Amino acid sequence: MKVLVVNAGSSSLKYQLIDMDTESVIAKGGCERIGIRGSVLKHKTGGKEKVIEQDMPNHKVALKLVLDALVNPEYGAISSMSEIDAVGHRVVHSGEDFNCSVLVNEDVMKKCRANIELAPLHMPANILGIEACQEVMPNTPMALVFDTAFHSTMPQYAYMYAINYEDYKNYKIRRYGFHGTSHKYVSQEAIKYLGKPAEETKIVTCHLGGGSSISAVKGGKCVDTSMGFTPLAGVPMGTRSGDLDPAVLEYLAAKKHYSMLDCVNYLNKECGVSGVSGVSSDFRDLTKAADEGNERAKLAIDLFAYDCKKYIGAYIAAMDGIDCLVFTAGIGENTWQVRKLICEGLDFFGIKIDDAKNQQKNDGNIHELTAEGAKVRVLVIPTNEELVIARETKELVENNGRK
Ligand code: ADP
Repeated sequence: MKVLVVNAGSSSLKYQLIDMDTESVIAKGGCERIGIRGSVLKHKTGGKEKVIEQDMPNHKVALKLVLDALVNPEYGAISSMSEIDAVGHRVVHSGEDFNCSVLVNEDVMKKCRANIELAPLHMPANILGIEACQEVMPNTPMALVFDTAFHSTMPQYAYMYAINYEDYKNYKIRRYGFHGTSHKYVSQEAIKYLGKPAEETKIVTCHLGGGSSISAVKGGKCVDTSMGFTPLAGVPMGTRSGDLDPAVLEYLAAKKHYSMLDCVNYLNKECGVSGVSGVSSDFRDLTKAADEGNERAKLAIDLFAYDCKKYIGAYIAAMDGIDCLVFTAGIGENTWQVRKLICEGLDFFGIKIDDAKNQQKNDGNIHELTAEGAKVRVLVIPTNEELVIARETKELVENNGRK
């Protein structure tokens, strides 16, 4: 079975065509600047990249171009569109409507549209991507895989905010969590690696990338996660502030003459390690600047690692223990300095990493950092969100008796 994984953003559409018999990527790429002048499709297959510069006024045109590229005799990967057995869409928000991936139908789409208000920046684009596929490939089954679904197992005392209960009920204000496919993938890989029954495991997964979140996964199920109602909460990120006292908003609005929207944009785009350092949101730039003596870059890295460490401690408490700590995503997989800072001082919990192993370069495989004799296993696991989307799509389509 071949599954096309689609991740539609407001002006982008990323895709991977995955052969599920071997779980290998046959082709991948992305359209950029959809609806903006200068649209471009970058398509990779067989180690080669083809760049197609063509007007893409909307997602439907972009998707048609992707399909044309996939079947192109010169740089394509399949001979006809009918070889695509199913499409799996990444959808950012499930609201409280879905706790797992689902096949697309009218009722599902209605619920997704109703959830636009929960993620107004991302949901409209996700929906445009689904609608474009429905128009261009009307007979191909499609699944939706939600970023929030893995977190739906959190107990109510973990996902509730201490606000008026009626407001939670009426307005759905609660912790949802994001990066769910990544936390799910790396925790499942860790469970396989540990070779223990899932029920006996207590894992903290740290997805540290452009956006960062940390989850507590007990018995294979998420019991808490650091992002909240939106991806702005939790640890600091590239440009997002992470947690802060909500009363700062009013003070900030008064001082900088900001509207509420300005405040939220500021917290999303001008804060985090970028705002603290004044250098960059990218940890490669930050570690370089810190090595060269830039104090604010060092402060940003220290602050980031300290907050991650606090979440790990909190989740050890939430699970009454820990067997395994997992690092993933751009920073988690590559920035050894951050892993070192986070793990320093966690000896009390049995977390200790081997310095030499920690400094080894990421080779795309699971890499164990545990120091000799340490109780808690520490792993670097490269994430693969597209593969989770493709696997769940395949499972849903097969169970539905189609193809
Ligand atoms: P996104 O959330 O945008 O997908 P990534 O998971 O790709 O982000 O993480 C991006 C971050 O990872 C960058 O900001 C950078 O600081 C960090 N990073 C450090 N080393 C590398 C590397 N070798 N490759 C990619 N990202 C790296």
